[in-house]
Amino acid sequence: MTDAAPTPAGTLRLHNTLSRALEPFEPLDPPRVSLYTCGPTIYNYAHIGNFRTFLFEDLLRRWLERRGWDVFHIMNLTDVDDKTIKGAAAAGVRLGEFTQRFADAFFDDRDYLRIRPAHVYPRATEFVAPMIALVESLLAKGVAYRGDDGSVYFAIAKFPAYGRLSRLDTRELKAGASERVSADEYAKEDARDFVLWKAAREDDEAVGAAWDAPFGRGRPGWHLECSAMALELVGERFGADVLDLHAGGVDLIFPHHEDEIAQSCAHTGRDLFARVWLHGEFLNIRGTKMSKRYGNILTARDLKEQGVDAGAVRLLVWGTHYRQTLDWSDDALAAARQGSRRLGEFRDRLEAAETPSSPGPRAGEWDALAERAWAAFAEALDDDLTAPRGLAAMFDFAGEGHALLDAGAPPTGRAREAWASMDGVLDVCPERARRLTVAGNGTGPGGVQGGEDGGPAETPPAEPAEREAWALAWAVRRKAAKAAREWAEADRIRNLLQEHGFEVRDARDGAIELKRSV
Ligand SMILES: [Zn+2]
Repeated sequence: MTDAAPTPAGTLRLHNTLSRALEPFEPLDPPRVSLYTCGPTIYNYAHIGNFRTFLFEDLLRRWLERRGWDVFHIMNLTDVDDKTIKGAAAAGVRLGEFTQRFADAFFDDRDYLRIRPAHVYPRATEFVAPMIALVESLLAKGVAYRGDDGSVYFAIAKFPAYGRLSRLDTRELKAGASERVSADEYAKEDARDFVLWKAAREDDEAVGAAWDAPFGRGRPGWHLECSAMALELVGERFGADVLDLHAGGVDLIFPHHEDEIAQSCAHTGRDLFARVWLHGEFLNIRGTKMSKRYGNILTARDLKEQGVDAGAVRLLVWGTHYRQTLDWSDDALAAARQGSRRLGEFRDRLEAAETPSSPGPRAGEWDALAERAWAAFAEALDDDLTAPRGLAAMFDFAGEGHALLDAGAPPTGRAREAWASMDGVLDVCPERARRLTVAGNGTGPGGVQGGEDGGPAETPPAEPAEREAWALAWAVRRKAAKAAREWAEADRIRNLLQEHGFEVRDARDGAIELKRSV
């Protein structure tokens, strides 16, 4: 079940937005795979719709790696564009100071949702030199021109493939000096010459968002940033100028990805900028598009603050194929929390069960179950990352596995491996209970004080790490109370912990298990 070498090229089929068809995946130079994903614009906290895209990309990344591919994952951070400059100006701070806190928040949220970190997180402001070089190249090739406003524009009429990704009707394209757009974001109806380099304005200078360039002082346009960073990093790493995979949300197809293709291919002279383009669909909240206007923006930190385990969030997201609109609702979240708990119970039981040195009486049944579940799971993921079917394979495994465990049949190594492989990709179980082994006399970690008798206070501290230390200190006291047969006090402590979101349990081996309620 372990894949020492990548599975044969072509086993995995992915939906390529370029062809609007499922295609066997074959990287340029196996086993290496370059993956570029458009990252967050760090002017705000990323919402759960953004994270749905990042989770779909995490699934892609994990499945490629599980299948043995050597993935190089780049995710950019957009730290200079219309929105970040506006935000910094409104806050009255320099651009770098403004974006740093949202970069930090993004990394916290990523870790909370167990998203595997990209190998590099280039920030646009750190790649201005290659961006300037790219604009110079496009000017030299005659596909870019300087407008009378001092900005540099891409002439879409000079790039015949423009519109190929988003399937724009080329007759509709508006070209020329009077038909151009200088905003970073615009609609399909506004397909026209787009900005590569924006001439510096007072606002840009005020927040430190302007750089000198041979074609005038200014700052990069959003679309240019991704092209320059992707080409620079994939060139540096692999000596390549074409990406294997490029992913993002459907809202990026036009104009962002269309413009990335135009800039990159006009510069490299290649037909393709990325061989495969993958796009994740939107997320709605209770049937409505998430929007400031409707006041229904849900962020990852909201969920974290509500004590929602990331396993449940991931399970909810995997319940819908990435190319279908996901409907987020309280009911769906409640069901996902329950599903995650159920899978977590099975995981705990499987882990706690002993594997005898010689095969148990029903080892064959465990092995057959493992083979069957893994085959179903792999087939689902190979079929354009069909996570709902992958989840179903995990639930089937858990259902039949429980029955075998009930019958006293010890699990085989193969069964454990199959389970770990599936959960290693979807990662949907609740956080593991934190185990604390306490000496027989009931003394545990000290240092948490604040109560009347020098023990922990009745109310927990606000800071999460201190909160956990507080809970551990109470858990130790509870064990001591039980040892002294003070049952009422032990119960009181259990209730106190529960009230503040912690579950405490005594393991058979004498350890204390403490976990956050999910
Ligand atoms: Zn991008």
